[in-house]
Amino acid sequence: MSSGSAIRGSRAGAGPSGEAVRGEVCPRVQVSYYCANGHITQPSFAVDAQIPEQWECMKCGLPANLDQRNPPPPPKTQPYKTHLAYVKERRSSKEAHAILEEALSHLKDRRARGEVIY
Ligand SMILES: [Zn+2]
Repeated sequence: MSSGSAIRGSRAGAGPSGEAVRGEVCPRVQVSYYCANGHITQPSFAVDAQIPEQWECMKCGLPANLDQRNPPPPPKTQPYKTHLAYVKERRSSKEAHAILEEALSHLKDRRARGEVIY
């Protein structure tokens, strides 16, 4: 007759008690990256890892590189374009002027006929 109480408390798959479960410890190197704002970001890499030439600044998000005296320039951010800006891109100012003139002459005609009072 087995009581079954011996099974209770056993942990399937558990390692020997006292075993530290840690990540693999490997030698690391800390690298300094400099951004255009003068921030220094110092991630660490495994010594055998490929050190990237650029890193993102932890403080401002600008690209940073290993050259303190020559950090990468801030990326040119595309400003938000208005609808008018897109229209201007599609039409030359000459065309726009012609369109405006046409609209104005229509308006003048209508005004001359008394259709528009302003
Ligand atoms: Zn920065």
